[in-house]
Amino acid sequence: MNNINLQDDNEVLRFIKTENAEEMATLFEAAAALRSEYYQNDVYFRGLIEFSNYCKNDCYYCGIRRSNANAERYRLSSEQILQCCQMGEVLGYKTFVLQSGEDPYWTDDKIVETVRAIREKFPASAITLSLGEKSRESYQKYFDAGVNRYLLRHETANDEHYQKLHPASMSLAHRKECLFNLKEIGFQVGAGFMVGSPYQTPEHLLEDLRFIEKLQPHMVGIGPFIPQADTPFKDCSQGSLEQTLRMVALTRLLLPKALIPATTALGTINPEGREKALKAGANVIMPNLSPKAVRKLYALYDNKICTGEEAAECRVCVEGRIRRAGFVPSLSRGDFIDMQTTTQTALGSAPAQVAIDGAGAPSKTMHLRCEECQDSQAERAKVPEAVCG
Ligand code: SF4
Repeated sequence: MNNINLQDDNEVLRFIKTENAEEMATLFEAAAALRSEYYQNDVYFRGLIEFSNYCKNDCYYCGIRRSNANAERYRLSSEQILQCCQMGEVLGYKTFVLQSGEDPYWTDDKIVETVRAIREKFPASAITLSLGEKSRESYQKYFDAGVNRYLLRHETANDEHYQKLHPASMSLAHRKECLFNLKEIGFQVGAGFMVGSPYQTPEHLLEDLRFIEKLQPHMVGIGPFIPQADTPFKDCSQGSLEQTLRMVALTRLLLPKALIPATTALGTINPEGREKALKAGANVIMPNLSPKAVRKLYALYDNKICTGEEAAECRVCVEGRIRRAGFVPSLSRGDFIDMQTTTQTALGSAPAQVAIDGAGAPSKTMHLRCEECQDSQAERAKVPEAVCG
């Protein structure tokens, strides 16, 4: 299936660095074939709810870091989070991802209460948290309350590099410990890293691959570094599309059963970035379910896409993109293949019309268009009538 010797560091390094079109095509084809072996051409939806952009940390690359006085802060209430889930249910999503900065307001008790409410109202849905580093006891409480998955990108597996991206109060050792704790507790665990972050070398990326090989996470999020104007790295170059795609493909080869998102960051640096990631072995997409009013405020990096549309518009746009790229949108839970509890079902026909009103609650029927797609004539020409109305 592929002739790449994944145990040979020099060979893997060569593929991390290669600019040779033929070699890259071979890599992407091998990764796509392996993904198809376990998940066919299915692409799983995760409804993303960014519920607080407060954070006590100060990562140098992040737009919502504590010391960014220009960040306009917001928090959703439990009720608002439940409304987002309700919208997700209407749109057919079977996974809700609750993501925030490390916000002390959201105590374990508040998280557990909210998770229990979601679990009670949407018993068949998967609940994913992405709240940062917590104690093992906290993680256990979340798991016991009904959380299925936890995302915690390690960002870089090299200690020296980690220290250049984070203040001294943060440590890679602790982040790794969190990831191993999450696995031991029984979560489906997502790790991940940035590509092209300041001071990064190809050897660092090799270390990222060796780390995920050791951790064996169920999900791996890989996105290009994108500078944010209010951070110390504001003048640094962004990560490259090609290198990020190569890392997606190599990750697929190393972890054939992993769930790998085609990240929004990839769609931000290239209009076809997410489609290209699917062709390089990714199989997850994370449309935004956050209320439109706060989308732009969760600005980890500049020029983030999909901040101007209602959730339903994102759903229709993303589904069209998946289909046009030759993949099959799936609204099943999309669990890790060895931990599946429900039948995997592909999505039938696209809901060209979805009921919403201005407040984001289900209401009367309206046509849906993605403004970002509409802005591009070329993109619009590719949108089938059945999808964009
Ligand atoms: S990367 Fe995460 S932990 Fe770091 S400042 Fe941003 S939200 Fe906080």
